[in-house]
Amino acid sequence: MVRLSVGYPIDLHTHSLRSDGALTPDDLVRRAAARGVRVQALSDHDTLAGVGEAMRAGAELGLRIIPSTELNTESEWGDAHVLGYFIDPADAALEERLRWLRENRGRRVELMVAKLNELGYAITLDRVLEIAQGGALGRPHLAQALLEKGYVRSYDEAFRTIIAKEGPAYVSRVGLTPLEAVELVRTHGGVPSLAHPGTVERLEELIPKLVAVGLAGIECFYAEHSPSWTAHCLALARAHDLVPTGGSDFHGRSEHGADLGAVFVPPETIELLEARRARSQGLP
Ligand SMILES: [Zn+2]
Ligand SMILES: [Zn+2]
Repeated sequence: MVRLSVGYPIDLHTHSLRSDGALTPDDLVRRAAARGVRVQALSDHDTLAGVGEAMRAGAELGLRIIPSTELNTESEWGDAHVLGYFIDPADAALEERLRWLRENRGRRVELMVAKLNELGYAITLDRVLEIAQGGALGRPHLAQALLEKGYVRSYDEAFRTIIAKEGPAYVSRVGLTPLEAVELVRTHGGVPSLAHPGTVERLEELIPKLVAVGLAGIECFYAEHSPSWTAHCLALARAHDLVPTGGSDFHGRSEHGADLGAVFVPPETIELLEARRARSQGLP
């Protein structure tokens, strides 16, 4: 009998309350540990604010935390999100850039609240800020406010209708392009991987451009990928010498992503990513 892999759950894509997840970093790591996860990337959008708390919980529970972030981008390439692994949470210059991105998030959410009000949805910015509890603002917080008021029957319905990209209350973001996101991660010593490539438009055209500026991985293992799409992503990884990464994209709301550790990620992934980090930093 051939055992394809022995190992333990690894989850390289998770969100806490510090961005648009529902759990505190501490609760998130405890839940991951209880589900057997041994290596977890905390990849909150545009912030590393949860990393310290996650690392403290991880140290206590024997779970390794990889400090990470997920950068959403705005461009002709659709929803191209870039995960940055092995980010230094003490990097002040990077924090400056991330703060700029978070401020843009705030302005955009304010504009969307104004549009919702014009459309007759009585959502207040104060309530949206309360829901976010100081985390990096995003559409999930608007979805929750709409759900609370009974304007939609589910969180997902809000995303499919009112605040969808084609929806009446949508406001596009000002932010990085995918190339800039990869460059930002690289400049600060991190290892960039393209998240959930299924949401990218003209993926085959974009990948070589990202590889040219330092893309190191591609998220092949993802709950919403069909077996054939996973195979396609793995083929792209081979063709472009990228590390296949994966994770749950857990947000703590049942409608979005899988549960922690529920997506299989090969154990050698961590070593492969570490090798990329060493390579980019000129280490042996
Ligand atoms: Zn994403
Ligand atoms: Zn995510």
